[in-house]
Amino acid sequence: MNRFGIGYDIHRLVRGRPFFLAGVEIPAERGPLGHSDGDPLSHAVADAIFGAVASGDVGVHFPDNDPRFRGMPGPEIVRRALEIAAELGFFPAQADTVVVCQKPVLSPYRSGITAGLAASLGLDAGRVGLKFKTAEGLGPVGRCLAVSAWALVNMEKK
Ligand code: MG
Repeated sequence: MNRFGIGYDIHRLVRGRPFFLAGVEIPAERGPLGHSDGDPLSHAVADAIFGAVASGDVGVHFPDNDPRFRGMPGPEIVRRALEIAAELGFFPAQADTVVVCQKPVLSPYRSGITAGLAASLGLDAGRVGLKFKTAEGLGPVGRCLAVSAWALVNMEKK
């Protein structure tokens, strides 16, 4: 049996914060603001995992007022989401993702981010899609005030 989940996340970009995507630090003037490390790609993937197994969302499992989750790395949130899915008998088979970011240009980091995502999911890189889009200068993402991410995860019952 296969189930699919979608996930979405957006974080404000502010000066003085590191910019992590799937646990990979990207050199940037501004980074995502957040209670955790603000990694929108990992958070979208975790929400897709929770969606596939109909078990709440990142906000339910990792409340942003809980000091235990302060600064928590994105891949750790994905790993914990996978633990919850595994308790229900589901394991990742494939993921596809989109990161929408005006600046910095992310394409130089594609293989590193793909590898980080694959590692956090326990999948081969050949089962992990990653696309980068700008927002064509439109809206808060286009004005470099935010970064957003989308994910679809296919979970298999074993
Ligand atoms: Mg988030």
